[in-house]
Amino acid sequence: MLTGTRYDVVVVGFGAAGAAAAIEAADNGARVLVLDRGYGGGATALSGGIVYAGGGTEEQHAGGYRDSADNMFAYLRREVGDAVSEATLRRFCEQSPAMIGWLKAHGVPFRGGQVSSYKTSYPTDSYYLYYSGNEKAHPYADHAQPAPRGHRVVAPGMSSGRVLFERLRASAVSKGVTVLPLARVHELITDEDGAVIGVRYRAMPLGHPDVRRHSALTKATGKVGNWLPGLVKGVVGRTERLWERAAEPGEAYAGAVVLAAGGFIHNREWMRQYAPAFLGISPLGTAGDDGAGIALGVDGGGYTAKMGNVTAWRFLAPPSAFLEGLSVGVDGRRIANEDLYGATHGDVMMRCFGGAGWVVYDARTWRKVRAQIGDQTQLFQRLQLLHLLTVGHERATSIEGLAAKNGIDPTGLRRTVDEYNAGILSGAGDPAHKDPEIAPVLGRGPYYSINISADSSLFYPIPGLTLGGLVVDEDTGAVKRRAGGVVPGLYAAGRNAVGICSNSYVSGLSIADCLFSGRRAGASAAARMGAISACSSTLSDEKHAEIATGRLTSVRRPRSRRSTPGSPGRN
Ligand SMILES: Cc1cc2nc3c(=O)[nH]c(=O)nc-3n(C[C@H](O)[C@H](O)[C@H](O)COP(=O)(O)OP(=O)(O)OC[C@H]3O[C@@H](n4cnc5c(N)ncnc54)[C@H](O)[C@@H]3O)c2cc1C
Repeated sequence: MLTGTRYDVVVVGFGAAGAAAAIEAADNGARVLVLDRGYGGGATALSGGIVYAGGGTEEQHAGGYRDSADNMFAYLRREVGDAVSEATLRRFCEQSPAMIGWLKAHGVPFRGGQVSSYKTSYPTDSYYLYYSGNEKAHPYADHAQPAPRGHRVVAPGMSSGRVLFERLRASAVSKGVTVLPLARVHELITDEDGAVIGVRYRAMPLGHPDVRRHSALTKATGKVGNWLPGLVKGVVGRTERLWERAAEPGEAYAGAVVLAAGGFIHNREWMRQYAPAFLGISPLGTAGDDGAGIALGVDGGGYTAKMGNVTAWRFLAPPSAFLEGLSVGVDGRRIANEDLYGATHGDVMMRCFGGAGWVVYDARTWRKVRAQIGDQTQLFQRLQLLHLLTVGHERATSIEGLAAKNGIDPTGLRRTVDEYNAGILSGAGDPAHKDPEIAPVLGRGPYYSINISADSSLFYPIPGLTLGGLVVDEDTGAVKRRAGGVVPGLYAAGRNAVGICSNSYVSGLSIADCLFSGRRAGASAAARMGAISACSSTLSDEKHAEIATGRLTSVRRPRSRRSTPGSPGRN
């Protein structure tokens, strides 16, 4: 049995939410232990490192962009819906410039300035600020003044997420936070009153001879596994067996536990149960996104919501000319204005068009797509474009011919094209309200189409991640009980919890929510420990002494952790 010192706060999971919680708890005087089933980083380190922020950040000012907390709120209210209360969303918007300041104070670099003149889902290395959501698209632009809020961490290519996490890791460690990697938490320890006082885990000792191999295999499969999980399944299984053979049980005690163990996109059973429409998408994240943290919270007395909400990323741009086509379903009906954020457009396709869709282009736009690649794309985007522009498209001399090649209803497609062209030519505009600057007449053939369906190709997957989780008190991050009140000593953050992005994700909103909710949980957890130390009214002196020494004897063993809780809650 691995035993350690007793801590004030134990954090389960070391991604953006866990790091924010650990730093905030340490800043509030807590002794913090972080346990991570991997080496730390999670989906955060694999991410694009976009942080959604506004309300007048220094980076927005540097580019001459005006924004305010009210304006940001007006936009986000439409994205966020009922995921959090108005008061919480307001606080999120009001604190937004300071959140970027907080990150910078922890060494995370940002750069403001002008945004690119074209729409993109991820900027090239010339830009670190951009319109990362639906700000300029119908109907969102009718409700708030568009402002660029995608703050990308300064780092080349797709390394922004890694830099974001490593800076936070370094800061946490410098504050005395203890980090135990390869430690998988499987059970909460509660006292007879149901208060959470620690965790049980299994960890691969760092001195074990297989750790080097484990580390090498993990590194080799991380990024590839993120985009093409099927390709590295065997190696991931080998890595898992190395861990399984070496892992030893351990316990850690604390006054509070923060669950920050990510989402559940890799839990196929839960996906089948909660989000069957999204089973065809490619899971985005790490093997740790199996819902373990959420299951721990449910076992501890919490409940879940928004579990059926998944963000499915079908980005068309870059190149931006890809937005100039018409997206249609199998019946030829228009899916939506193509300048919507890729996941918003993808959500309409997944929910209302059975996950099947195509985008149709005329010859002029197809040429334009090719011409823009050099200026508008990153290397990782070019690999996918290579597929689309070589074998991954259909071509026909007529609209009806293109419909036939794809199995689209030709009458429906013809109607959509005619209505669209009539709107543009008459000056009435696109019936779907696409930005006029990227809504040219669909002119002469040959015509081209790309298949944007969920299962279109191994080389053109729709990746996605889950947005639901444990219901928390929005002032403290404490895990709520369905019957009322909270589970004493238990907090949740990031994709373990319902948060700002739980209804709708736009680029940067998940990490911004992880930081917001992680800091909130860390501060509350530290405050709870402070309250326990200052006043023994919550615990008897005897029990306090036992907790303080890690020798608590009267621990009620909770039900053993289930990988799939029977009925985690309302969704
Ligand atoms: C390729 C990619 C690009 C993305 N780009 C962006 C972006 O630019 N902006 C944005 O906002 N969002 C982005 N996202 C989404 C975003 O990265 C995640 O939603 C977010 O980072 C989740 O953070 P988290 O702290 O909740 O979880 P994670 O960062 O996944 O951290 C959870 C940690 O918990 C650990 N863990 C799991 N189970 C256990 C257990 N039982 N015991 C101990 N530890 C455990 C895991 O090993 C992991 O390290 C992207 C995601 C991906 C995959």
